Amino acid sequence: MAHASPPHRPVAAGIDLGGTKIEATLFGADLLAITARRTPTPNASYGALLAALEHEVQWLRRQAGCEDLPVGIGMPGLVDAQTGVTFAANLSANGQRLSPDLRDRVGGTVVAANDSQCFTLSESCGGAARNHRRVFGLALGTGVGGGLCQDGRLVPGLNGMAGEIGHYGISALLARTHDLPLLTCGCGRVGCYETLISGTGMANLATALIGAPRTARSIGAHLDDPGNQRVMAVWADLAGELLHTIMLHVDPDCIVLGGGLSNIPDLDTYLAAAVDRAALPRARRPEILKPAFGDSSGCRGAALLARDLHNRM
Ligand SMILES: [Zn+2]
Repeated sequence: MAHASPPHRPVAAGIDLGGTKIEATLFGADLLAITARRTPTPNASYGALLAALEHEVQWLRRQAGCEDLPVGIGMPGLVDAQTGVTFAANLSANGQRLSPDLRDRVGGTVVAANDSQCFTLSESCGGAARNHRRVFGLALGTGVGGGLCQDGRLVPGLNGMAGEIGHYGISALLARTHDLPLLTCGCGRVGCYETLISGTGMANLATALIGAPRTARSIGAHLDDPGNQRVMAVWADLAGELLHTIMLHVDPDCIVLGGGLSNIPDLDTYLAAAVDRAALPRARRPEILKPAFGDSSGCRGAALLARDLHNRM
């Protein structure tokens, strides 16, 4: 008779690769973290970044006592699933084949994917959206990212960009109504939602609306201030319009919020009211959920991706 895996037996690892730090986490069969560590991201060269990642994979595999432990990497930017080429402006892996190159060094299953997509997978599989089939993950952090899962699997795409909704252009009606600035986005386009509704975007909104460059953290912490209330009201109008756009494109059962802004108290309530104002008449609003795994969800999703790929091979 077969026995289920002990919950703490290591099965996969996730690496959260950010512009400033690399966080490596080992996960057990219950997909809870066993151990983790952080190291600064080397930005001097692609070779230095590869060497640092190789070091982390070796550490994770030593901790697990498993030479071919599957490892997933969640990173900002786009990862082309066919070629492995990554497009990440703030990493020295831009235009490189990160996961194939790392796999050449360490062997075994190594896969890289967009961090918001990893977050969405994590929340779909045993997370806040575990009881939903069609799940959109919306990461509101330094940038705005997203991902789409159907029945616990990420929906793949030609360029790996399904869910990159931060780069839609803002509504002309809202731009005119609130006299909003058209700012250049990190992607090179002008007037993307990301420029006004990400964490830095909320600060841009504060500058435009009340002439004060307040951080998203301070706005969220002082919502009794009339200026901050004005910023939040316009932010919610914009974010509600973006959620309406998501509904038109993928009609999800639920939207799971992630990123630093998801920590603002009652953000889900603000968004629900804003969606009701923006959505088509009689459209049923998807459930708007807070994440179950917080900041570590992206890392968990990367590990899940690697485990599933390993099991299919
Ligand atoms: Zn953009």
